[in-house]
Amino acid sequence: MFPGCKPTHSGPPPIQGKHRPLIYRARFVVTMDGPPIAGGCVRVEDGRIAKVGTLEDMDWKGEHIREIPDAVIMPGLINSHCHLELGMARGLLPRGEAFPMWVSRLRKSLDGAGPEQYREAARLGALECLKNGTTTVIDVGNTGESLNELADMPIRSFPHIELIGLDPSVAVARVAGALELLAGLPPANERYHPGVTCHAPYSCSPDLLRRVAEATGLRTGPYTLHVAESAEETAMFREGKGALFDFCKRIHPSLRLEKGASPVAFLSRNGLIPRGSLFAHCNNLDAEDVRILAETETSVVHCPRSRAFFNHLGFPLASLRKAGVNLCLGTDSLASNEGLSLFDEMAEFHRAFPEVPCREVLAMATLNGAKALGLEGELGCLRPGAHADFIAIHMRHHPEYDLYEEIVSEVHEVLLVAVGGEEVVS
Ligand SMILES: [Zn+2]
Repeated sequence: MFPGCKPTHSGPPPIQGKHRPLIYRARFVVTMDGPPIAGGCVRVEDGRIAKVGTLEDMDWKGEHIREIPDAVIMPGLINSHCHLELGMARGLLPRGEAFPMWVSRLRKSLDGAGPEQYREAARLGALECLKNGTTTVIDVGNTGESLNELADMPIRSFPHIELIGLDPSVAVARVAGALELLAGLPPANERYHPGVTCHAPYSCSPDLLRRVAEATGLRTGPYTLHVAESAEETAMFREGKGALFDFCKRIHPSLRLEKGASPVAFLSRNGLIPRGSLFAHCNNLDAEDVRILAETETSVVHCPRSRAFFNHLGFPLASLRKAGVNLCLGTDSLASNEGLSLFDEMAEFHRAFPEVPCREVLAMATLNGAKALGLEGELGCLRPGAHADFIAIHMRHHPEYDLYEEIVSEVHEVLLVAVGGEEVVS
């Protein structure tokens, strides 16, 4: 247990009682729904935000006000791509290796791990996210253990069992197994949304991809997939060769690929991109790929520090922005990242792409994640009616500096984290 993080619990968040603070006030409130409010307040009722504004706007009738001086209250961050159950591989894998070699090393590093280890990793990962201001995670895992663990965690979660299977003959059984796992989980609620997804176009047969992509009843969040992450993946689809292709052939010797298409074009030609999908990475895209992603309203999750870990080239940010593709941020797993802080991801992104306005960077970790989830106005912003998922970070703010720049480029102490109005870190 991390110091300062309250114990886990089951069930929906308690309704704010009369002894709990209803109004939070800080030096600034950054709403992402309008300009920052100096001396701003947030009024919370029944797990939702009732009002945002100055104290005069609160209809204050003597309710307790929780003052958080030298702080900014802002929306809780949304990690749009992580694998919490892989936390036990933290620090074990060398940087900069070819992707297939990393996969082999990861498998070895997980040798002998059982359900308890995966669950512990997912639990610690969720706590690390909360302590660093992340209130929502879109998580993927192969074992199903994180789906079990996150049901009892005070973080808002969209955990997915991630299916793999290049052999078309296993597709039916894999989906049936996932459905069985889902049926055995605690029921979904406002905070917990378990689902089923696939891993990647290179690790799943088209039949498995289709069965999962088309079955919208398998999840409440978007269909997520790793796509166009590495140069090896592009070589596999475009040229039918390379280290990743050889790796996949060893797993499934009768693998056949219609070469010539990029991973995105391959998915598109086969009708495997449901509208509103969420694709992780997308480092290697051409103009046609970007057009397809925009046309299918696919959101892209960029994972800045994971990309740096692998030394992946690419990520055509300018083209994606120009096409209006919804861009989110994720940490990926601790097998290719040193931590799960989205503040660190924003800082890395800001260093790599200083031309992007800082408010837009913050939107990638708030508003855009909510849009990818189909929850615009509900998450990622502070406005009346939204879930009361907010954080307070310590900041004195120098008037000469841009507040958004300070948020995305500095290390912050997270003073308070509330999910559904419940203070889970304070
Ligand atoms: Zn991933």
